[in-house]
Amino acid sequence: MPPFSESGLPLQPGPREPGPLEPGPLEPGGAIGIIGGGQLGRMLADAASRLGFDVVILEPEPDSPASRVATHTLVAAYDDPVALRALADTAAVATYEFENVPAAAVAALVAMDIEVAPGARALATAQDRFDEKTFLNAHGVGTVAFAEASTAEEAAAAVTRIGAPALMKTRREGYDGKGQRWIEHAVDAGAAFEALGGVPVIVEAACDFVRELSVIAVRGRDGATAVYPLGENHHEGGILRRTIAPARASQALADQAERIAAKVLAGLDYVGVIGIELFEMADGRLLVNEFAPRVHNTGHWTQDGCECDQFEQHIRAIAGWPLGPTRAIAQVEMLNLLGEEVDGWARYAAEPETRLHLYGKREAKPGRKMGHINRVKPL
Ligand code: AMP
Repeated sequence: MPPFSESGLPLQPGPREPGPLEPGPLEPGGAIGIIGGGQLGRMLADAASRLGFDVVILEPEPDSPASRVATHTLVAAYDDPVALRALADTAAVATYEFENVPAAAVAALVAMDIEVAPGARALATAQDRFDEKTFLNAHGVGTVAFAEASTAEEAAAAVTRIGAPALMKTRREGYDGKGQRWIEHAVDAGAAFEALGGVPVIVEAACDFVRELSVIAVRGRDGATAVYPLGENHHEGGILRRTIAPARASQALADQAERIAAKVLAGLDYVGVIGIELFEMADGRLLVNEFAPRVHNTGHWTQDGCECDQFEQHIRAIAGWPLGPTRAIAQVEMLNLLGEEVDGWARYAAEPETRLHLYGKREAKPGRKMGHINRVKPL
């Protein structure tokens, strides 16, 4: 790896080490690039380091959670050409910890001959809620009814077609319930469209689900796939509060989730871990709400509930290693620690059944994910 300057950029972008990913696995000692320096990047970096890899983070914020556990950090914009060049010169494979990575950054890395996993297709599909649901339906995966709209008039027509109440979401860039509005009557659609910024939206039918579940799945470079047991998820104010896993579920439900995951992974020619959010309907059908082309908050329970957690699994997959086991070895309740809840760390640390995972964020803003706990019981 070339020497790094104060800014984190290499002084001399030297010859690529250890070389573009060949069909064989990335050997320990090689470097993995991660775009994004948040908690997911931090936990991925930890897992990569356990397997003997160096980790280079690309993140514009100095002092990010991931940068404090990584080998090197490039403090620069995600699409900074010099930083991307440095990443390509040092890492054999790159991944990302959030789905709003600029598509141009991934395209630039691919053009510089570095493998990016999951690939550009998975990223582009996940970045646009309309494209995502269109992809799912085209691959035989059920979703709620939906329609797109790019003007206030189209938004009103879409709500009339789908039927109120309906949920209007921006096509791009929403997360944790942001960029969404419930529409109770079609006459309110135009105002809601403007309130969301007048950007292209998707209008979704209200889903009368009985439970929210998720399946964390993985596909290796060789096309091998595996799924973890289902998690049951509870949200508050659009933010994940709790996951209970393995969720109580019949074999038929688990099989249905596995079939959905297989269709999504194959349809995207996917490499890495994916989080697929599901609505369980009263008739037993599973509809997909959305998928995230990355490790997922609803998969944090695997850290203490499975032999090989989602973070190690993702690193194994993108490095071309064999996938690890996904079966559960414990029953877990995962609780997110939001904002000042993290101040209760000492109490959690004193509970024998509780494993504490803190992200090292400097400031506890309201609603910010500061850490999580996994309360573990024997299966
Ligand atoms: P999302 O940003 O799409 O993950 O949505 C956040 C949360 O809003 C989901 O976890 C659900 O609780 C709820 N939600 C999303 N879409 C729908 C829908 N079409 N009908 C009912 N609830 C929804």
